[in-house]
Amino acid sequence: MADFGAQAIICRALVEAFPSDSVVGEEDAADLRQPDMAQALAIVTDQVSRVLASATAEQVVTWIDHGNGSVAPRYWTLDPIDGTKGFLRGDQYAIALALVEDGDLKVGVLGCPFLSFDGGERGLMFVAVRGEGAVMMPLAGGTPQPIQVTDSADTEHFRFVESVESGHGDQSQQAAMAQTAGITAPSMRMDSQAKYAAVAAGQAALYLRLPSPKTPDYREKIWDHAAGTLVVEEAGGRVTDMYGHPLDFAKAARFENNRGVIVSNGTIHDIVLAALQEGVPA
Ligand code: AMP
Ligand code: MG
Repeated sequence: MADFGAQAIICRALVEAFPSDSVVGEEDAADLRQPDMAQALAIVTDQVSRVLASATAEQVVTWIDHGNGSVAPRYWTLDPIDGTKGFLRGDQYAIALALVEDGDLKVGVLGCPFLSFDGGERGLMFVAVRGEGAVMMPLAGGTPQPIQVTDSADTEHFRFVESVESGHGDQSQQAAMAQTAGITAPSMRMDSQAKYAAVAAGQAALYLRLPSPKTPDYREKIWDHAAGTLVVEEAGGRVTDMYGHPLDFAKAARFENNRGVIVSNGTIHDIVLAALQEGVPA
């Protein structure tokens, strides 16, 4: 429900500001249009109307479906609620939006309503613009602060993040790979692209997402990685697949030619890639 509402509100803003841009969003409104979903649609419309007072049910489904676009020379990709399982558990989730031009990430925004660092207030937003760096600011408003990935000499933050969901990765292999990079602390498990935010803000040196042995044919989705990737890159870090190839945002909503995702502070990236190549046993 909340994912439909968020997609409606964000797509409405995008269609007003950039009417000719396509939006590749996670949700589509086909289900919501079914007669037996009328009550659900009424709830979503009510939620949206708290932000956009005059919103009608027909507008809401139209805005959601605006997010049903295709990858194009210029497009936006949106995950209205990334980390749904975290959202439902009351843990981390993120609203993730990115602009892609000719396959290159240009703008990345991550809203993380439950995230806080170092005992600060909950609710952080991360914004990156290609070539202009990355900043973090309180979602409640406040001054944007530039962020930077951690130095490997910063032992306190020399740790790694991975999914809470064991089915979204290969936790035993991830622990083995972190060890090859010299990380001995146990992982911090977080849902959603908040993991990218943790690396970008220097709270962790590494985020590992190796294919789960339970779903070896799973292909990662662009909206699960686009915004986070630019935020980390502009904070000085590096993002590749497990073979060291850049994530390919030029072709389709799922990465056909990328497997796994490795996100790092940059300095330990090649060590992890080399260990993966050698297939260090878990
Ligand atoms: P996370 O919060 O990091 O666990 O990632 C959440 C995302 O994992 C969801 O948005 C899904 O698109 C994605 N996902 C679903 N199934 C899998 C899978 N088998 N392997 C990797 N990611 C998955
Ligand atoms: Mg997602």
